[in-house]
Amino acid sequence: MLNFTVGPVQSSEEICNIGSEQVPYFRTAEFSKIMLENEQLMLKFSNAPKDSRAVFLTGSGTASMEAAVINTLTSSDKVLIVNGGSFGHRFVEICKTYNIPYDEIKLSFGEALKEKHLNLYDGKGYTAFLVNIHETSTGVYYDIDLISSFCRKNNLFLIVDAISSFLADPFDMSACGADIMLTGSQKALACPPGISIMVLSPKALARIVKSKTPCYYLDLKSALKNGERGQTPFTPAVGILRQIHARLKNIEREGGAQEEIKRVAALAKDFRNKIKDLPFEIVSESMSNAVTPLHPKNVSAYDIFLKLKDEYDIWICPNGGELKDKIFRVGHIGALTAKDNDVLIAAFRDLQKKGVL
Ligand SMILES: *Cc1c(COP(=O)(O)O)cnc(C)c1O
Repeated sequence: MLNFTVGPVQSSEEICNIGSEQVPYFRTAEFSKIMLENEQLMLKFSNAPKDSRAVFLTGSGTASMEAAVINTLTSSDKVLIVNGGSFGHRFVEICKTYNIPYDEIKLSFGEALKEKHLNLYDGKGYTAFLVNIHETSTGVYYDIDLISSFCRKNNLFLIVDAISSFLADPFDMSACGADIMLTGSQKALACPPGISIMVLSPKALARIVKSKTPCYYLDLKSALKNGERGQTPFTPAVGILRQIHARLKNIEREGGAQEEIKRVAALAKDFRNKIKDLPFEIVSESMSNAVTPLHPKNVSAYDIFLKLKDEYDIWICPNGGELKDKIFRVGHIGALTAKDNDVLIAAFRDLQKKGVL
């Protein structure tokens, strides 16, 4: 199987091998050491400001989205949410669920966030800004510098869902002034799903200490307290945390986050060059290195997904809802190489020869 989806993505052999091992008991000095190293490497790779913390929640990426909202925002906040697709919409639903006052910046499909959108909300008493920096559902990558200066000017608490962007696009928490950065195990970390990670700035930590969150499992106060000694309040997905450890150490050995980002960027570029003469149209105004969203000009996108899966054992990422037949996405995160791109391109050409494309 060759996996070009956006998560779960292709894991390396090393990560798969750890997955086949017995899961150890975790209230031990050995596991604490792994967790403390995981935290340090996450802080390093996101360039978190001094005295930041990272917590590892057992749950998919959405657990971190929800935890960020309920531990740092209250009904006295006034939140601005960038809603350009299904992940932006998810932040809207989370705020709605917990009665956090919000307004949304609605973007149409494939549309980038621009200064004119933000200008409407300048100086209007907002307190926080929520954005999925790469709206994975449409493949649009937002301009972090634009967001960063708007938030600084308006003194907004900035929560960045970088779940599909972390380790694929440059992200510097100190430089952009983000207060919370979120990611998940099954995207560019290329591990199985089940762990989501939050990097928390001192400003976020101060909000958490004061919070009276209505949730027990996702209350970050106990996660932070236990994390001081490399532990978690409840049984975590121990096996995945061991896989994340191997992956983070590996990235460090290979030169750190910047080198990994360069590798993903080169792979995305290689793919985008190779599809130039295929009957596809790129449908995003601004792309992440993580994904290329494509519109096949002559046939159903979903049919291409099915054909590649059933006849070639290659997985690309279909879209849901209205876009099902219009768009598919090709991911560049995970243990993939330029040779793998060639295999996918050869399959596209084969479909073309058969008159399918
Ligand atoms: C994958 C993803 C999530 C998390 O989704 P889960 O299914 O809960 O893991 C959140 N935001 C973005 C932008 C994503 O790409």
